Amino acid sequence: MNFFLRGAVVLTCDGTTPDRPASVHVENGQIAAILPPSAPAPNGAEIVDIEGLFLLPGFVQTHTHLVQALFRGLADDLALLDWLSTRIWPLEAAHDAESVYWSARLGLTELLLSGTTAILDMATVHHTGSVFEAAAESGIRAAIGKAMMDRDNEAGLSESTDQALQSSVDLAAEWHGKGRLRYAFAPRFLPSCTDDLLRETSKIARARECLIHTHASETQAEVEMVRALTGQDNVVALDALGLTGPDVVLAHCIHLSEEERDILVRTGTQVAHCPSSNLKLGSGIAPIPALIDAGVRCSLGADGAPCNNRMDMFTEMRLAALIQASREGPGVLPARTVLQMATADGADTLGLETGRIEVGRPADLVAVDPNAIHAWGGGDPAGTLVYAMTPGAVRSVWIAGEARVRDGSVVGWSTEETLQGCTKALSRVRGHAGV
Ligand SMILES: [Zn+2]
Repeated sequence: MNFFLRGAVVLTCDGTTPDRPASVHVENGQIAAILPPSAPAPNGAEIVDIEGLFLLPGFVQTHTHLVQALFRGLADDLALLDWLSTRIWPLEAAHDAESVYWSARLGLTELLLSGTTAILDMATVHHTGSVFEAAAESGIRAAIGKAMMDRDNEAGLSESTDQALQSSVDLAAEWHGKGRLRYAFAPRFLPSCTDDLLRETSKIARARECLIHTHASETQAEVEMVRALTGQDNVVALDALGLTGPDVVLAHCIHLSEEERDILVRTGTQVAHCPSSNLKLGSGIAPIPALIDAGVRCSLGADGAPCNNRMDMFTEMRLAALIQASREGPGVLPARTVLQMATADGADTLGLETGRIEVGRPADLVAVDPNAIHAWGGGDPAGTLVYAMTPGAVRSVWIAGEARVRDGSVVGWSTEETLQGCTKALSRVRGHAGV
């Protein structure tokens, strides 16, 4: 592939270069050159005219659940522990390999259409191979892991410690490093996992250079459960079991003691912030400005469709900024910082080279149209993106220079077929789950 994106306003998200009109040459999947807008196209490059659009790095979401996309609307108006036990666990337990595929395809379609090009995803206990298959078809960059659960679970989702470990190791052997896919070991959260499982996970994940992905300190009720189980605060317990470090991504981290914050800083543990999910489940508001000031890398994720109920980065960016403005005052988490969290910081969290528009980096790019009535205006393009834009602004998405969204449609998948597959799968799963 060899093409020339001509005439956009380029937001490099590299933290230093100002936004500017420029043209970008993409060759062999990489950004080959960033040239003045009037520069002629390099020899042989196909010209793609994107004048008047913003060109930015693809969004990176560091906490999603593709297996739950099928369950949007089935678990509204509940707090986390009821949300899990009365809806999400029974529905996940009723999933089959085919329904997981359609759920993942539905979620991936929404993610791509709204400009997300890389994710860190937690699947459920079974049929994780179907998530990998859908991700491989979609072309997205993804680190995916089955949810590990070895404590008793009323929906029957739990396994033995050995089963949870062995099936994770088998999936890692099959998928880690295959194309744009990687394996990420994913203990669900501390109350679902024994100490043995968590301790072993830290060893086997590191031996394979895989990320570790779990939930922590999402609600006060969860914090109390962890104290009852371990006698410790959540992050303190995880740290003692080896589940902290720069290769660990903790989703949420809302209710943290001073000691837990210090552990995150000292160990380089990374935080995935999910503002929509936190607000909808009434979990609380994570202290993101304080964590960033202390040196903790924080990025963004939509979490699952049943707790959001959207999966686009525009919603997460807007809410991330607004809830901190409400809590600590406008400007405490400015639009430019939020855009950085959604791109470069997310990519760094996952150890990807993407997330910035720089020569030599992979061409994971999104072209968005700022000329919609609801987004049109002057000022900082980061403000337009974070506060005004919606997913409908996305015109084109490239991953490693391959077009994955063109003129507002996903390349390679029929939306009609996706919805038909989801309709049949949902009816079957709901029948089995009784939800
Ligand atoms: Zn989650």
